[in-house]
Amino acid sequence: MTLSSQTKNLLKVHQDVDPNITPNAGWRDLPIGGVIPQGGTATQFATGDWRTIRPVWSKEKCINCHRCWLYCPDMSWISEDGKIQGVDLTYCKGCGICANVCPTKVHAIEMHPEDDFKDDEAVKEG
Ligand code: SF4
Ligand code: SF4
Repeated sequence: MTLSSQTKNLLKVHQDVDPNITPNAGWRDLPIGGVIPQGGTATQFATGDWRTIRPVWSKEKCINCHRCWLYCPDMSWISEDGKIQGVDLTYCKGCGICANVCPTKVHAIEMHPEDDFKDDEAVKEG
């Protein structure tokens, strides 16, 4: 059985709590749904793999108003010394909020389909 990266993430979180849970576990072995087994589990889910569109940022256009940084639900925007440095896509779900709150006249963020980056990913994964 081949597990998706999302299922692998989920399995790892549960295995951290109960090592007896294996990929072959039956439904009776699984923990009750909707229960957060421990604190800080959100960091263990690389929610970026849900994304179908991604924000593309223009450093040249950006005026460092930090609206994207403030409104991003996944804290994906990186800021140092009062300046936006870019976006970390690990947890970015592609909701597009950042592109919506970026001032209209500035338009420093555009959302692009993930398919546009398929070749880049293939090169990275080697
Ligand atoms: S698309 Fe959504 S999750 Fe991704 S960086 Fe923008 S606001 Fe954050
Ligand atoms: S919302 Fe737009 S202009 Fe403001 S910091 Fe983010 S990218 Fe830059």
